[in-house]
This record gives sequence, structure tokens and C-alpha cells, in this order.
Amino acid sequence: PTVVNRIAAGEIIQRPANALKELIENSLDAGSTRIDICVSDGGCKLLQIKDNGHGIRLEDMEIVCERFTTSKLSKFEDLSDIATHGFRGEALASISHVANVTITTKTADSPCAFSATYSDGKLVPPRPGQSAGPRPCSGTEGTQITAEDLFYNVPTRKKTLKSSSAEYKLIIDVVSQYAIHNSSVAFTCRKQGAVNADVQTASDSSVVDAISQIYGSNIASELIQVEQAFESQEFKMNAYISNANYNTKKMNLLLFINHRLVESKSIAQMIKEIYSEHLPIGTYPFVYLSLEINPRNVDVNIHPTKKSVRFLNEDRVVGSVRDAFEEKLKSASL
Ligand code: ADP
Ligand code: MG
Repeated sequence: PTVVNRIAAGEIIQRPANALKELIENSLDAGSTRIDICVSDGGCKLLQIKDNGHGIRLEDMEIVCERFTTSKLSKFEDLSDIATHGFRGEALASISHVANVTITTKTADSPCAFSATYSDGKLVPPRPGQSAGPRPCSGTEGTQITAEDLFYNVPTRKKTLKSSSAEYKLIIDVVSQYAIHNSSVAFTCRKQGAVNADVQTASDSSVVDAISQIYGSNIASELIQVEQAFESQEFKMNAYISNANYNTKKMNLLLFINHRLVESKSIAQMIKEIYSEHLPIGTYPFVYLSLEINPRNVDVNIHPTKKSVRFLNEDRVVGSVRDAFEEKLKSASL
């Protein structure tokens, strides 16, 4: 069963950036206002995330890495109305099956922090001969999760990874996008031992401030906001899109649906089409798009490996976003 669990976990957690995405979402769900990330060897040797959220209670520490353990679902009906990112209780379990995980955490009402080490979903002694339970230690309120030696036990998965600099680039992309979408939260991401962070945003930033801090003031000063609610279609959008003066060689699309970073072929295609009228051939825009869709209309149960999301009345929703974008782009170029 351990091998089966490892293979299943390797399907959910395909690369360090996937693992980090789940860890960031957990930190956000815990109400954090600061999230600091530290990486070594593209996340394979070390992936560490420290937050100042509400922490994990001592009595939950034994089970947080077991499959289907979640504090975010109290009754079945909640499934249709999920406000938080998590609901499956699979992320930590999966990570602990393909890495050595150490969690140090403190809740507000606990006099001290506790630290515990996990392997294959279970508490293990940090060192041979020591006991496996959570150990009291010093620490401030919040949670630090350290995943070491990712995929050490899944050589086939490790072979599919790119170079550590390419994996680090994917990590930087994920952190950057979450830092923009959650612009009130202060994010840092750095390589282990580095003095300077590669991503750094201030707390209480606006979305445009965060874009400026990450991608530079050039892009940020050119952005047009598109904010609109479509009540009959049960969705609303908030977007910042570049105007016809800004272009890059690669499309920069940051897409969040119900606060989860996703990909959508139909939205990417739509954006390519509308900008092809405004930008020189072979150049692309910058688009940050956040959609909030009635959860009933989104396939939230989609398998975690499928990054592409599907939603009800997709053509109508994408068409409405297209109309709103085109109208703003037209009036901006007048
Ligand atoms: P899910 O997010 O779907 O509930 P996870 O496997 O991602 O499942 O996390 C399991 C549980 O561990 C969460 O429900 C939460 O109670 C706890 N947890 C994980 N990370 C954190 C964190 N950074 N701060 C507080 N609690 C956390
Ligand atoms: Mg989660």
C-alpha cells in the first residue's frame, strides 16, 4: 500500500511548484498576512514555507498528514459551497508520501510551538531512537512546513523534472501569481542562503502595487482595470490588462477562478484573439484576471493534476469577459 500511495501522491504532486501551490493555499486559508518561502535545488532538496496564520492545534498534529484529513469541511453539503482553497485533505498527505516533512506550528492559545516529522503520512521520529510525537519547541504563532528531498522515493517522477533552475523558475511564477492575487499579504521567496529575495511584496499592497513590485513599474503604469458583475450569469470579474502599448514575446496570463490559480484554454485563446487586433504579430499582452463564479457552476472536483478548469456556460462567460475587455481596449486607444 505504501508504494501505491507513493505513486498516487506522485500523480497529484508532479513537481516542486505543485507542492508549493498547495502549501501556499493552506497558508492563505489559515489567514496569514506574511508568507516566506525558501528553496534549494529547485525545490527538490528543500521547499520551506513559513506563515503567520492561525496554526495547527496540537491534537490535530498527529493526523494532518493522513489522507482526507481536512479541517475545512464539516458536513457533506459544504462541498457545494467551498469558500476555502482546500477541501480534499490530500495535499499534505501526498507531499508526506514523496518527501520528508517537518511541521512546526503554534496556535494563539498554546504556550509554546510544537514540531513533528512525517514520512508516508505518519509521524516518525526526527532521529533514530527519538520518539515520534510532536515535540514542544520555541516559535511564534503560525506554521512552518519543510519538505526535504522531494521524490527521493519516486525515481520515475524525479526523472521527469527539468533542471533545478527551470523548476525554480516555475516556483517563482507560482509565488508571483499568488502574491499578486493576494496583494494584501506580504510574500518573499528566496534561494536558501541568499540575502536577496527573488520575489518580495509589501503587506497591504494593491494589486497594481504588487504587479509593480514583481514585474516592474513599466507594466503596472500601463494597466487598465476592468471590473464588472454579471448577475444573470452568476459571476463577476476583476482584471488588470495591458493596453496596446505594452507587449512581450510571451503571453503573460494570470488566471484565478474562485481564488485558485488555474489554466483555461478557452480564456487564453480569447485573449490571444482580441489582442491580435491591437498588438504586432508575435507579441502578447499582460493580463491578470480574477473570476468569481457561483461554485455550483464550477467543476471543483476536477482531478488535481488537471490544471485546466471547466465551468458551466463557459462560452457565455468567456464571451462576456471578451466584450468587457474589448470595450475597455477600444476606449483606451481612442
Ligand atoms: P485541505 O487544505 O484540503 O484541508 P491539506 O492536506 O492541504 O488539506 O491540509 C490538511 C489540513 O492541515 C488542513 O485542513 C489544515 O487544518 C491543516 N493545515 C495545513 N497547512 C496549514 C497551515 N499553513 N496553517 C494552518 N493549518 C494548516
Ligand atoms: Mg490544502
